[in-house]
Amino acid sequence: MKFTQMVSKTLRTEPTEAETANHRLMLKAGMISQVASGVYSYLPLAWRSLKKIENIIRDEMNAAGGQEIRMPVLQPQELWEETGRVAGFGENLFSLQDRRGRPMVLAPTHEEVVTNIVKGNVQSYRDLPVILYQIQTKFRDEARPRAGLIRVREFDMKDAYSFDADEDGLDSSYQAMGQAYRNIYERCGLPVIIAEADSGAIGGKDSHEFILPTPTGEDTIILCPSCGYAANAEKARGQVSHTGEEATLPLKQVSTPGIKTIDALCSFLNVQPSKTLKAVFYRADEETIFVTVRGDLEVNEVALKNALGCKALRLASDEEVKEAGLVAGSASPIGIKDVRRIADISITKGANYVVGANLPDTHMINANYPRDFEVDVLEHFALTQEGQRCMMCPGTLESTKGVEVGHIFKLGTFFSETLGAYYLDSEGQQRPIIMGCYGIGVGRLLAAAVEQNHDDKGIVFPTPIAPFQVGCGECSRCPIPGAVGGGHRDPVR
Ligand SMILES: [Zn+2]
Repeated sequence: MKFTQMVSKTLRTEPTEAETANHRLMLKAGMISQVASGVYSYLPLAWRSLKKIENIIRDEMNAAGGQEIRMPVLQPQELWEETGRVAGFGENLFSLQDRRGRPMVLAPTHEEVVTNIVKGNVQSYRDLPVILYQIQTKFRDEARPRAGLIRVREFDMKDAYSFDADEDGLDSSYQAMGQAYRNIYERCGLPVIIAEADSGAIGGKDSHEFILPTPTGEDTIILCPSCGYAANAEKARGQVSHTGEEATLPLKQVSTPGIKTIDALCSFLNVQPSKTLKAVFYRADEETIFVTVRGDLEVNEVALKNALGCKALRLASDEEVKEAGLVAGSASPIGIKDVRRIADISITKGANYVVGANLPDTHMINANYPRDFEVDVLEHFALTQEGQRCMMCPGTLESTKGVEVGHIFKLGTFFSETLGAYYLDSEGQQRPIIMGCYGIGVGRLLAAAVEQNHDDKGIVFPTPIAPFQVGCGECSRCPIPGAVGGGHRDPVR
């Protein structure tokens, strides 16, 4: 076939709907075409790149002992009700009815189905370990699909699942998958940051994300250049600095007419945000929660949700705040009753704070913990910020943006216990199989690669995942084996 016949019409004008580089450049290069919000066709150039990525992934999965399978996208909703994940995914789960009125879902992930496969195939410890994987289409009804192929509703993903007899087995499967992931990104020519991630409510112990750094990425990574520590913003821990030792002063009420925000309060009283305490109200399932963090920090909602063990967490409405007998804009940890009080440890790293007074247009100054108020839970509930000291070494933390292009996760026994996937150990005891899961978004990896690798002329693919490798094949400047030749051109653009 001639290149001139290829279905990839390039655009002369800038696509106006594209806000990120990968979206704009892939539309412009005729690599993708949009069918609906968050739904795309991959045209020949994109498809060639995707197949190259897939082949690298497949190669490394097989080398790590994975067995490739194919599970259905269309699944009975019943199966998802067994694990409580219909509610868990909520509106992100694509659901439909078949002609008999039977509820079905378009799967966003495959833990239920794969656990049932293993349940039917594993009887004893001799049948373990097992690693199964597939490269397949998944669906997620995102509220706001965006950024081209980065956040879409239909996407290709490699998902792998490991099954082991014990924790040691899980550790080796997890390490083997982690190494396979490192190899995959390296072979794609894409340098990633491996960041500790939150392991969520289902709660296995370990979870790592593979992040491709790019300024437009929606994930924030906190890292320490001195010791190499890296974690995503929700998981990261840094040392909260002390605002300075000082003698505690007597608590005093001050008038603050019309002041509702920390910024306004700081300029009105001429203090730094770190000398105030911020009150934030949340609704954890059916309960209103009072959260206090130092004014220069933000609440880490993931840490809060994990500590509360609630299903849903959101900011409380003005109504709910009022119902709890609190005054939004001037709520105070002092004298608060009948509401659970959660505080970040930052409240212990300073003195003489400005706080609300639970009265309109009034604040208190010189509030000190624990002299003036109590809390029910005191833990790490603030997001770590760059500039904080590393917990592991004397280094200073930095933050960077990136796109999550892979995630590995120790699942534990939630799915095997819920769905009854047990094995018999060497003593004949029945035990739940221990699972791990490992995902790579294939289309997202391509999009992130473009996001990271482009210049003012267009996409500059890393050679291994370029749709075509172009060069003369003869000189030392472009010695690309197997390249299609014809004249001297800039390689792999
Ligand atoms: Zn460090």
